[in-house]
Amino acid sequence: MTQLADLEQAMRQAGVDALWVSTPANVRALTGFSSSEDGKVLVGPGNAVTLYTDARYSVQAQEESRVPSFIARPPETFEHAAENLRGLRVGFEADHLTVAGLEDLQTHWSATLVPLRGMIAELRAIKSPEEVQAIREAQAVADRVFAEVRPMIRAGVRELDVALELELGLRRAGAEVGFDVIVASGPRGAMPHGVASERVIEDGDLVTIDFGARLHGYHSDMTRTLAVGTPSEEMRRVYGAVLEAEEAAIAAVKPGVRCADLDTLARGILERHGLGEAFAHSLGHGVGLNIHEAPGLRKTSEEVLAAGMVITIEPGAYLPGVGGVRIEDLLLVTEDGYEVLSLTPKEAI
Ligand code: ZN
Ligand code: ZN
Repeated sequence: MTQLADLEQAMRQAGVDALWVSTPANVRALTGFSSSEDGKVLVGPGNAVTLYTDARYSVQAQEESRVPSFIARPPETFEHAAENLRGLRVGFEADHLTVAGLEDLQTHWSATLVPLRGMIAELRAIKSPEEVQAIREAQAVADRVFAEVRPMIRAGVRELDVALELELGLRRAGAEVGFDVIVASGPRGAMPHGVASERVIEDGDLVTIDFGARLHGYHSDMTRTLAVGTPSEEMRRVYGAVLEAEEAAIAAVKPGVRCADLDTLARGILERHGLGEAFAHSLGHGVGLNIHEAPGLRKTSEEVLAAGMVITIEPGAYLPGVGGVRIEDLLLVTEDGYEVLSLTPKEAI
């Protein structure tokens, strides 16, 4: 839940009197309304926050929304909002609103429209205790489901069938499938986003599994790489290097640490193992209403860790034609360090 006081301060700093919110996760964060792709929010002027949605959701909006809702369809929506916006500076989410959406606002409002980027996403990086609890529960479901499915991950089984069992387990537990399940075995492990295919897992494969639950709108995220039989000496060495990088980065997590420095730390370890080029993505990301959100744990990030952030640490190494390894944990940044939320054991390979 995004604190309104923080948002008002951010709006003042950005020099806007009101804010038109169209990004679904931000609509949900401000209102609690769960069908947020069919909602918009107007913040201000003053402290007024209004949820706009249509008649399909009048009951749901009443049940879920913490702010008053106005039920209408465009253009009535814009006309209703226009009354309070004459002559004001109104921010909009330039990283989400379409060109057509902006044209609609320009047609109906005699206001100055100000493009803003990432304002609410930045506020959302720090989670409330309720949000942390939702993520913790989502991860607990994922850990339980992984333990149930683990015995079936062996030679002769298709990647697709592993993914399906994970998805069924999540759904049975009352959660949603957070994102497309990645099951990448053998040479397919070289694809960081290798969603499950019809490939049959073979003896000697490493199998990378990346999946998460979504519960009450909040995501979990975890990757484990498992060995089926005895993998090659080369891949065992790669696994050891990725694990070393992952554990070192986790141990360095605490408030005040620059996200870019964490990425550099893990990357340096993989470089020393000759795997710098093989680590083809950033170290991690924030997790919440979106599976990928602020902060970004990458070389170019200006962000600094703070207590209440929920992040992943997920170094990997990908060798085209050979295979790959990724190990990912979900962490809460605490006042004096971190707490690992993903409790599935990492297997020795
Ligand atoms: Zn993941
Ligand atoms: Zn991730």
